[in-house]
Order: sequence, then structure tokens, then C-alpha cells
Amino acid sequence: MNKKRKFCANDRTRKDQLEKSGRKIIMHLDMDAFFASVEQAHDPRLRGKPVIVGGVPGGRGVVSTCSYEARKYGVRSAMPTARAVKLCPEGIFIHTSANKYSHVSLSILSILNEYSPNVEPFSIDEAFLDVTETAERFGGPKQLALQIKNRIREKHNLTASIGIASVRFIAKIASSISKPDGLTIIEPGREKEYLWPMPICNLWGVGPKSEEAFKRIGIKTIGDLARFPKHRLKRYFGIVGETLRDMANGIGEDEIRPFYDEPEVKSMGHEHTFERDISNPDLISGMLLFLSEKVSHRLRQSNFRCKTITIKVRHSDFRLKSREATLVMPTDCAVTIYQCARLLLVKNRFMERPIRLIGVSVSKLEKNAVESQLELMANPHGRQIVVDRVIDSLKSKYGEHMICRARARMVFQ
Ligand SMILES: [Mg+2]
Repeated sequence: MNKKRKFCANDRTRKDQLEKSGRKIIMHLDMDAFFASVEQAHDPRLRGKPVIVGGVPGGRGVVSTCSYEARKYGVRSAMPTARAVKLCPEGIFIHTSANKYSHVSLSILSILNEYSPNVEPFSIDEAFLDVTETAERFGGPKQLALQIKNRIREKHNLTASIGIASVRFIAKIASSISKPDGLTIIEPGREKEYLWPMPICNLWGVGPKSEEAFKRIGIKTIGDLARFPKHRLKRYFGIVGETLRDMANGIGEDEIRPFYDEPEVKSMGHEHTFERDISNPDLISGMLLFLSEKVSHRLRQSNFRCKTITIKVRHSDFRLKSREATLVMPTDCAVTIYQCARLLLVKNRFMERPIRLIGVSVSKLEKNAVESQLELMANPHGRQIVVDRVIDSLKSKYGEHMICRARARMVFQ
């Protein structure tokens, strides 16, 4: 295939090009300003206005999504609402309504499923599709993408941006290139044209910290990374450096994991932001126990036990810290999780300063084998495990908030 040939062929030729290359046709769909657009679609009064979804003025929340009209004022996702209010006083602030968004999200997935059996939801407003085998049926990848965009517009009055490439991460970059309402196709062999001029932070997996590290050794663009000597990169960044260099050269994963495959649960957690910063150790411990109970209840509901327990704490300076510990035996016991979490809190002196947010999560999950009486007795919290079971049965009968340990209850007084 002549890589230098200027690409202006029709869609059929494009499909041939992709097919001849023996590579897959991967599509990434990303809804534009999803939450804000859903709100605008549902309420005509909001259209054309700066809509900011997330926290509301006076609260301590953050912006979840904002409409393109609000972005003109400099409002961005993850920005504290207070700052968004200052930047855009005429903004219309709306609480997130998860049910509404997941309803639309599921409906969009079912549209996508009409175009490929291999659809992988990536987040509430993003999905990957493998259309290698179905594109031709719809007149080629471009026609297929346009049809999907039209269907979503007709049904939900929403726009999506689509990227098409032969691997996942390039498809994802492609969908971000011409947002909103975009469609970008990057044929195999033309990856470098698109990728290399981009700043290094555009590469999947490069956060602000690694961006800094790359800059220190003179890597500013994806092209710089692609051309950087392999052995030096390995010395600086280990195996991750090699993977990123491969990506910079257009090499990446092309497997799509359809959503009927049960997603592998890797961790579960709960967190709480206090109304005001808290220094009272009893209140903090009470909240920690409450969160540990919630996590352990979820573990048991999904028949898992965990080995690693992580706490995260945000102090008034907004900096998020986390610490973790791994147990010898896996557990789903609330008190075991709580004691480990509390130890981490004390050991790291996190309670010496007022706390704004606290969270408990568990990972290294294992499916729970049938528990023997012996195990129950061997566990130092054997009695607590029985208490957990009683709490579970009461919760399933009377609701999530019907019961918790007294120490955890005090956080609500
Ligand atoms: Mg999006």
C-alpha cells in the first residue's frame, strides 16, 4: 500500500485499505458534553445557555460536565463549583441526575449494538466498537459512523464525536480531534501524521507527573517519544516507557470486550465529603466505620473478599492522599476492614489536621468460597462476622439505612 497516496478516495476504498492491512476497524464514540447536553435536550429553556451540571452554588461540589456555552467562560469539568460561579455568574447550575443519564446511555448502547455485536461501554458517555466485520454492510466505516450519529441525534437530540482507527487508543484520540459532533478516521499507516505533532500529554496514560518527567529529558511531543532511543527510555521509565514508546509509534491494543461479558470487578469503595472540615477523632472514626460497613456489605453482596484496604483523605488544602495495607487472609468483615483503615489513618497521622473528605476502598478481590465453621472460629472477628450477617439480613429486609453499628451511627447526630 502506498502510504504517501493522498487520501481522497471514497469510503469503499477506505474500507479496502483498512481490510488489506489485515487490521481491525475500531471505533470510539464519545458523547459531547454528555450530562449538560442531556439536560438541554430534556428542557428547551436550557438550550443555548451555559449549563453547568454537578455541584450547586453555595455547596462544596465540583463541576461534572458543562455545556459548550459555559466552556466559553473557562468553566471546566472537575473545577470546584465556587470557581465556576465566579467565572460564569449567569450559569445555570443543575444537580446531576444519574438515573436520567444512565437511561440515555443504555439507549445509546442499544443503538450501537445494531451496528456491531462487539460494543464495549467504556464510561457512561463513551464506548468502543469493533466494526471490522460489519462496516461493509452499512457502506463502509464512514457511512456507518454517520448513521450512528444520525440515529443518536434523531432519538435523543444529542451529538456524538466518533474516531476510527485500527487500535483503541488511536480511535480514542481521533474522537477527541474534531469535537463536538466530529468524525475523524485515521487509516493504518497514517497514525504518525496525526500523533507525532501532538503534545505528549495527549498519549493515554501520560498524566501531569509523567509529562513533567518526559519534559525533563527533552520529550515534548508524541513524535519526540517515538524517536527516543529505546534503551534510554527503559532506563528512565522501565517497562512503562517501552509501552508508551510503542504507542507513540502507533502500536496498541485492538481487543474489544463486549458488555455482555461480566466486567471484572477490581475494587470497590465509598467516600464521604464532610459539610465542614472535621478534626474530632470520634467523628472521623465513626465515619470510617460507617464507610467500612458499606464496603463490607457490598463485598458480601457480590460474594467477594478483599486482601488490600486503601484509605484516602483530603485535607483542607484539597490534596488527596492515600495509603494501603494488605492482609494475610482475605476478608469481608466490616470490623477487620475498619481496624485496618483506622490503623492506616493513625499511623500516617492523617487526623492531625482537619479532614474534608475520607474514603475506604478494597481491592485484590477474591471470590468467596463456602466458608467453613472452622474458618469462622479461626477468625479473630468470628463474632463480628455473625453480626455482619445479621446486619445484612436486616438491611435486605428493611433497607440500607435501617441499621449500622452505634459508633457509626453517631456521625449522623
Ligand atoms: Mg464525553
